[in-house]
Amino acid sequence: LVSRQGGGDYCLYDPQMSADLREQTLLVADLRQAIDKGQLELYFQPKVDAKTLHITAAEALLRWHHPERGYVSPAVFIPLAERNGLIGAIGNWVIDEACRVAGHWRALGLRMRVAVNISGYQMRQDDLVPRIEAALTRHQLQPARFTCEITESVAMEDTKGTQRAFDQMRAMGLHVSIDDFGTGYSSLATLRSLPASELKVDRAFVSDLAESEDARSIAASIIGLAKALNFKVVAEGVETQQQCDLLMRMGCDELQGYLFSRPIPAAEMERLALAEPSEHSGPGFSDSLFN
Ligand code: C2E
Ligand code: MG
Ligand code: MG
Ligand code: MG
Repeated sequence: LVSRQGGGDYCLYDPQMSADLREQTLLVADLRQAIDKGQLELYFQPKVDAKTLHITAAEALLRWHHPERGYVSPAVFIPLAERNGLIGAIGNWVIDEACRVAGHWRALGLRMRVAVNISGYQMRQDDLVPRIEAALTRHQLQPARFTCEITESVAMEDTKGTQRAFDQMRAMGLHVSIDDFGTGYSSLATLRSLPASELKVDRAFVSDLAESEDARSIAASIIGLAKALNFKVVAEGVETQQQCDLLMRMGCDELQGYLFSRPIPAAEMERLALAEPSEHSGPGFSDSLFN
């Protein structure tokens, strides 16, 4: 048996291979078939406006229903898929499925954006943005309705591949959001040069906001930085009313977290959005392609 390693190197199967690694190999084999077997599903979690609490966007979060293991967390299988190049096929499925769902929402008169997490591997593929463009066209969506969430550490890679992807995103008018902000090492020069319009404060600084002076200082400085550079700032992982109040007072623009909603299936997200008292649907709403 030959197993493929991250950097494209090949190594022979080692009987001493740790139980952990063997376990991972099994999981990868199953993951390879997960798309064809229809085991992947997108859940959605709303981002809400901090002032009106209206839904502004829905972030797609991948769920894998494994027939024997049950639900496997993306925190486990996304890194695995990254190392095995499987994230290419999975990522393409996510992009198309997110656009399909968002196209349906648009047809219902809902105006929220759809946000998709894009991994480092995907950013380095030269067909990423053309694929997003094709999916948008297929489902009749405007690029401005689609947000690419890219983690700070990937955004800061500054390689030829990520450069090209960012240039194409800018040219196409896609929205770009820097995810998990505060956990990487941002160069302010690079940050300013990105086609991003949104920063997401990492959950790590939100979770102990009420208890920790440090967390409050960090959150406040990220929000200050975002304002100075003209980014919209979103806080992720908001679980309590107290965190919500603090973040609103600090000037956070949008909020996301269990306090508002857990990630939920597309049909539930749709019900949630349709139930909103809204200025966007109803008689005054024009169903143009360009909203
Ligand atoms: P992320 O993009 O930073 O997503 C936020 C994670 O925090 C999600 O975990 C979400 O379910 C969780 N979360 C949201 N609100 C709260 C809260 O109030 N409290 C707590 N404790 N957690 C909250 P999830 O769904 O397990 O996803 C984990 C990570 O996996 C994501 O982090 C993202 O990096 C990655 N991921 C998920 N779906 C995809 C995908 O389709 N493609 C790629 N490339 N990565 C994905
Ligand atoms: Mg995200
Ligand atoms: Mg995040
Ligand atoms: Mg995070």
